Amino acid sequence: MAETKRTSAGQKKTVKAKPKISLILPVYNEEGNLRIQYAKIADALSRIKYSYEIIFVDDGSTDSSTDILKEIAAKDKQVKLILFRRNFGQTAAMSAGIEYSSGEIILFMDSDLQNDPEDIGRLVAKINEGYDVVSGWRVNRKDSLFIRKIPSKAANWLISKISGIKLHDLGCSLKAYRGDILRQISLYGEMHRFIPIHVSWIGASITEIPVNHNPRIYGQSKYGLKRVFKVILDLITVKFLGSYSTKPIYLFGGFGLIQIFFGIACGAATIVMKYTLGRNMTGNPLLSLTIILLIIGVLFIQMGILAELMIRIYHEAKHTRPYHIDKTINF
Ligand code: UDP
Ligand code: MG
Repeated sequence: MAETKRTSAGQKKTVKAKPKISLILPVYNEEGNLRIQYAKIADALSRIKYSYEIIFVDDGSTDSSTDILKEIAAKDKQVKLILFRRNFGQTAAMSAGIEYSSGEIILFMDSDLQNDPEDIGRLVAKINEGYDVVSGWRVNRKDSLFIRKIPSKAANWLISKISGIKLHDLGCSLKAYRGDILRQISLYGEMHRFIPIHVSWIGASITEIPVNHNPRIYGQSKYGLKRVFKVILDLITVKFLGSYSTKPIYLFGGFGLIQIFFGIACGAATIVMKYTLGRNMTGNPLLSLTIILLIIGVLFIQMGILAELMIRIYHEAKHTRPYHIDKTINF
C-alpha cells in the first residue's frame, strides 16, 4: 500500500478522541442515485459511531433531485441541505459545503454511487492516525479506458511530477481532510482536483489508501473530454501559484531578461554582419528579430512589476500572509 507522508514538521498531530465528521456531497441531477446513496451512507456512518452531519449541496439540479433531498432532510436532522440558485460547478458546491460544515473531519464523496460509503471508516481511521489528508485511490476504477482512465493516468503522473505530491489518483472524490487545514484555502474554477496540492503548501501531511469504485448506473457523468484542457490550464495555474505567487517578477522578469539578452545578441550580430560581411542592416531578418525580442522582453518585465503590485494588493485585501503558522508559543 502506498503511503506518502509530506509534512514540514514531520510529526503526527494528536486528534480529539471522537471528532465530528462532516460528509459533503455535491449533487447535480442525480435523482436516480440519491435515495440509495443516502441509505448507504447513513448506515455506514451509524456503524462507525461518530457524531456526524451529511451535507448535500444541490448545485442547481433541474431534475427531481432537489425534491428528493428535501424529503430526506425532513426525516433526518443530521442531513443538511445547501441549495444553489443555479449550476455553479462541483468546486463551488464543495466550497459551500466546507463553509457551512462544523466537523473536525471533512469528507467528500460523489452522490452518484461510484464511491463506496463502506470506505468512510478506513479514511477516518487514517485521519485519526494523525494525517491531515487521506486521499482515496481507485485501484480498480470502473470507468471507460480511453476517455477516462488513460487521460487520468497521464494527468496524475504529470501533476505529481510538477507538484512533487506523490498521489496516484487526484481525481478521486472520496477524500478526508482535517477541517482546520481545509478551511484555510480558497478554491476557484474546477480546482477541487488540486485540493491536496493546495493544502500541501500549508504543510499538510498526506497519505492515500485504496478505495472501491463502482460503475455509474443511474444518470450520466457531468464531464467529457473537455476536462483534459481544463486540467492542463489548472495545472499551469497551480504551478504558478505554488512556485511564483509571492514572487511573480522572477518568472516574468526572468523571461523578459532572457529575451532582452537574445535581442541584444541579435542586434550585435546585425551590426557585426554589416561591417564584416557588408550586409545591409535593413535587409537582415535578424534586425526584425532584435526589435521583437526587445519589445517582448520589456513587456514581460512590465508584466512582472504589475503582478508584484497585484499580489501585494491581494494579500493586504485578504489579510493573508505569505506563510502559514502551525503554532506559536509564549505569546
Ligand atoms: N457535480 C456537481 N456539479 C457539477 C458537476 C458535477 O455537483 O456541475 C457532482 C455530481 O453530481 C457528482 C460529482 O459532482 O456527485 C461528480 O460528478 P460526475 O460523477 O459527473 O464526475 P465523474 O465521476 O464522471 O468524474
Ligand atoms: Mg461519477
